[in-house]
Amino acid sequence: MVLNEPKRPLELCDVPKPKPGRGQLLVRVSTCAVCRTDLHVVDGELPDPKLPLILGHQIVGRVEEIGEENSRFEIRDSKFAVGDRVGIPWLGWTDGDCIYCRSGRENLCDNARFTGYTIDGGYAEFTVADARYCFHLPERYDDVEVAPLLCAGLIGYRSYRKTGDARRLGIYGFGNAAHLIAQIASYEGRELFVFTRPGDKATQQAAKELGAVWAGGSDEMPPEKLDAAIIFASVGPLVPAALRALAKGGIVVCGGIHMTDIPSFPYADLWEERVITSVANLTRRDGDEFFEIAPRVPVRTHTETFALEEANTGLDRFRAGELKGTAVLLVNPK
Ligand SMILES: [Zn+2]
Ligand SMILES: [Zn+2]
Repeated sequence: MVLNEPKRPLELCDVPKPKPGRGQLLVRVSTCAVCRTDLHVVDGELPDPKLPLILGHQIVGRVEEIGEENSRFEIRDSKFAVGDRVGIPWLGWTDGDCIYCRSGRENLCDNARFTGYTIDGGYAEFTVADARYCFHLPERYDDVEVAPLLCAGLIGYRSYRKTGDARRLGIYGFGNAAHLIAQIASYEGRELFVFTRPGDKATQQAAKELGAVWAGGSDEMPPEKLDAAIIFASVGPLVPAALRALAKGGIVVCGGIHMTDIPSFPYADLWEERVITSVANLTRRDGDEFFEIAPRVPVRTHTETFALEEANTGLDRFRAGELKGTAVLLVNPK
């Protein structure tokens, strides 16, 4: 399913099977989960995607072939063999050499390449990926249920870790990432305060069932001041709203790649060492940590499946807020 131009539907077409280069895996895609970032790319909200582009960066598949020139010793940890199940995330490649890579911040690499954005992704029967950025996936999950963990889980986890040891944690926007992170937060004993669209009682109820001590509209103040808040909704006005809900020294973490403009607010709301930050991408270390903790919780995903050729339907229903779980494309499901 190919994106030829933003703001146009994806087109079903035949493309040549990709060839794995040095250090790359040829992967037969089993499933690929749909991320809000995919919508941002289709809707032209993110600059300069590769075009034409195959979207998708929550890919589960099996290694079909290992790049010819690549000896096992060149792959980090020599960790994949033909037939292995593999997870391919958003971070597809970094230069390993810039000031960010050299300081443990490869998520900020100046020359990073991103799966399903600046390199082709998983809305296809086959894809290639640099083995060093791929993950083994916990065995307790099948190919459908594990797919949403590869971005909503990973980047949600990075956002969550930015909140340090916050005891009272607010989450604005209870979508895919929030749903996963809420489970880890409860497991780690945090008190969860969930904010939804005003009046969305069904989502508030779902949040309580997942362990939230309080759930309400984003126009409400929580009963107690929060130590941290994560914003997963791409709605700029939530930033000053979340800031007003914070205790002194609290932090607002913006977990999305795109957000509408943030309105101005009084400096007094930021005063007393409150912090606003964003989260960009992921590091391989985030992935290793997340896939270690996820099966212990265990983090459960809710999915709605679509055939590969129904990708446009999945995207449209996601955009309209009509999905009951994360959309997952079935490509060659096992
Ligand atoms: Zn770099
Ligand atoms: Zn994503």
